[in-house]
Amino acid sequence: MSNSANPNALTSTAPQPDEPMSFPPPPDVCVSLRVERRPFPADAIDPDAAKVLHRLRRFEFESYLVGGCVRDLLLGRRPKDFDIVTSARPNEMRRIFGNCRLIGRRFRLAHLLFKDRKIIEVATFRRGATAEDDVSEKHAAENLFGGPLDDAIRRDFTINALTYDLHRGEIRDYVGGLVDVERRELRTIGDPDRRLVEDPVRIIRAVKFAVRLGLTIDPLLWDAMKRHAPLVARCAMPRLAEEIFKLLRSGSAAAALRMVHEIGALAPLMAGLDRAILDAPDPGAFFALLGKTDERIRGGLPISDPVLLSALLHPACRVALAEDGDVAKNLETTLRPLVEPMRFTKRHMALVRQILLAQRRLAAGAKGRHVRRILDRDYAFEAIEFLSLCPDGPGDERLASQWCEAAAARAGRPAAKDPEPDESPKAAPSGRRRRRRRRPGHPPQGEGV
Ligand code: ATP
Ligand code: MG
Repeated sequence: MSNSANPNALTSTAPQPDEPMSFPPPPDVCVSLRVERRPFPADAIDPDAAKVLHRLRRFEFESYLVGGCVRDLLLGRRPKDFDIVTSARPNEMRRIFGNCRLIGRRFRLAHLLFKDRKIIEVATFRRGATAEDDVSEKHAAENLFGGPLDDAIRRDFTINALTYDLHRGEIRDYVGGLVDVERRELRTIGDPDRRLVEDPVRIIRAVKFAVRLGLTIDPLLWDAMKRHAPLVARCAMPRLAEEIFKLLRSGSAAAALRMVHEIGALAPLMAGLDRAILDAPDPGAFFALLGKTDERIRGGLPISDPVLLSALLHPACRVALAEDGDVAKNLETTLRPLVEPMRFTKRHMALVRQILLAQRRLAAGAKGRHVRRILDRDYAFEAIEFLSLCPDGPGDERLASQWCEAAAARAGRPAAKDPEPDESPKAAPSGRRRRRRRRPGHPPQGEGV
């Protein structure tokens, strides 16, 4: 692990005395503390996160920004959220912060609630569980607390293990994450084989970070991703579904899903879709619609999860939708095997069906039978938005904007032709409602920060 010649960098090969380590690091993890002064401008940091850090410091707890926000700030990107790690235990968090709610069964995290439903997530330093650990709901909390070094090496990729000391304006790096940020390279902390087998969701996460942040993937990691791709089927489906939606919402969904397919991780998740891509005369066409959703997302327009999922699945449903007879039944027979064994929620799948079924009627224009009934349904704006992606060629965009006005008039509200990013009828209620329950980016099993 190289250290730059930066005069501000301090290096130590052993954990510092004030950094308790419960266990020695696994032999494949190379630990070397590098502390580097890199003060971020004050306005780059969320003011509520800064308040939390100051308050923890006042109560003499160690605390840092951690994970995605530090990585994104170093890469010159605006972080989505600001997560914090601290030496304060969950009960102590509750004592210090009146706005604290503890969540998670196995390992408790503190959610601090701020104005406009903002949540700052604060996790106590912890270590990765070993095979000998009792990680039952009852004991995980006491058994897994650790120090800052434990907490860094339990994380997935070196670039995600950096912490930022707001008070000193210093980055703390135990695992070579700073060098990897500078090189724009994605590497696991320790042996990629061990880390991917330990938690195969990291394979999908690797795709997400590589594509979204434009990173090269360490060749050893890339080989391990391909080797262990079938293991993703072992993971909890809600975690996988969340990571798949993160890919779809990333603004680089076309490239990401193509990579998931290429490494062999789509087959164990959505066997029918994988087969359809392999059998297609032009597999690239499968990702064209996602290319359009990417453009919109990059332009600042949110798109609801059901519309994104429809864009992923539509190319494999074209034939079923064009056939005569009972189209609804044809579609049902086609959709189910496409997404198995993945388990998207029933609600998501019902909306995908409705969005896809509505297309023929919407595309037929005002003359179409029963079309106006669609405008009164709660999925109307999502169906129209999907039409505006022109899944079947040019021309649908103009029609979509007419339908949008008609649907808005029926709903008794003005049609938002050029919506502000966060007020778009495209940000349909279904996607929003789901996402509010859990912050995007935070897996359901207490992995998170
Ligand atoms: P995003 O911008 O997509 O939210 P993120 O890095 O913030 O990316 P999160 O899923 O929000 O990712 O997780 C926060 C942090 O928790 C990560 O940066 C990483 O340090 C750690 N983490 C998340 N998932 C895992 C995992 N499966 N294994 C190990 N560490 C993880
Ligand atoms: Mg995050």
